[in-house]
Amino acid sequence: MSQPPVIQLLPDHIINKIAAGEVVDRPASVIKELMENAFDAGATYIEVSVVDGGLKLLRVADNGCGMDRDNALLSVERHATSKIRHVDDIEKVATLGFRGEALAAISSVSRFTLSTRRTDDVSGTEIVINGGRIEDVRDAGIPPGTKIDVRQLFFNVPARRKFMKSPATELNHIRQVFMLYAMGRPDVGLRLLVDEREIYRLDGDSQLEDRIRQMHGSDILRDLVAVNLQHDDWSVTGLVSNAHLHRADKTEQYIFINQRPASAPVLGYAIGEVFQEVLDRGRHPMAFLFINLPPEEVDVNVHPTKKEVRFRHGARVRDLLIHALRAAITTSSAVNNASAA
Ligand code: ADP
Ligand code: MG
Repeated sequence: MSQPPVIQLLPDHIINKIAAGEVVDRPASVIKELMENAFDAGATYIEVSVVDGGLKLLRVADNGCGMDRDNALLSVERHATSKIRHVDDIEKVATLGFRGEALAAISSVSRFTLSTRRTDDVSGTEIVINGGRIEDVRDAGIPPGTKIDVRQLFFNVPARRKFMKSPATELNHIRQVFMLYAMGRPDVGLRLLVDEREIYRLDGDSQLEDRIRQMHGSDILRDLVAVNLQHDDWSVTGLVSNAHLHRADKTEQYIFINQRPASAPVLGYAIGEVFQEVLDRGRHPMAFLFINLPPEEVDVNVHPTKKEVRFRHGARVRDLLIHALRAAITTSSAVNNASAA
């Protein structure tokens, strides 16, 4: 008989690598996590740079609150977060992050430099981490805010590196993430640099319409109609296409739940239900929808990357969305008919 297997607790550096597999599966997920942190830090301006589809360099720099040295050191530890304190906080979390995993995970699978300074501090801190090992911590004369450089993602996880697609494909995913947040947060100025060339420069303090104009062209604005429904502290706002503008897939449906880009099966169902009356089979509307409801109505902790959420009262959300969309497209067809007459 063979010996029974021996159970051991894994050391942190292995745990981090395993967690990294969940949180970061490609360069775009690094950009997502770092942009979320920048929004959570109250940034009004965020700059994203990528080189070689992010395989060589991913950089996110913000003008948010920054960190002092102690907090900067804590931020790269696993389960280190400033965003929740108690277990109940998870039920009403208002920030994009709360799991305290991203920086630990990313820094364990890359060559990572964190530079950060709080506005009122005279100098900042720079932390260099190589595949999870802290190599250097030093004072740095840097502007307020936080900048994170991620080089050679997965250099120490060859199996994962092999799964990376071409730089062009990875870049495509990064652009989608950037686009998503650009649509979700027109109040924040954003810039995207690819291989040192500026691809987008988007002013902060702007409106959804401005962002759509800049990123999708102004033509489509003519075929988008306003969605606006409020019920107590539940609301759906945004823009959705009329019957003249449709797509073969749902990639241009941007949905934000309490400012978090997220999806849930009931939402897709609601959109499908309304638009099956207007569009041909297999065609989908373009949509930019902002659903706001009390935080305790949404469970964001059902997916490691928080892509999907669950609603406490799913049917109510579905009905709200259906009403909002129906109202929007009926008003628009009334307008179109009136102008045709
Ligand atoms: P989470 O966002 O889930 O808390 P992260 O690993 O992404 O976990 O970040 C850990 C902590 O580091 C955050 O809670 C926050 O306090 C701090 N932090 C991360 N990024 C930034 C940033 N860009 N500016 C200021 N603080 C940051
Ligand atoms: Mg985070």
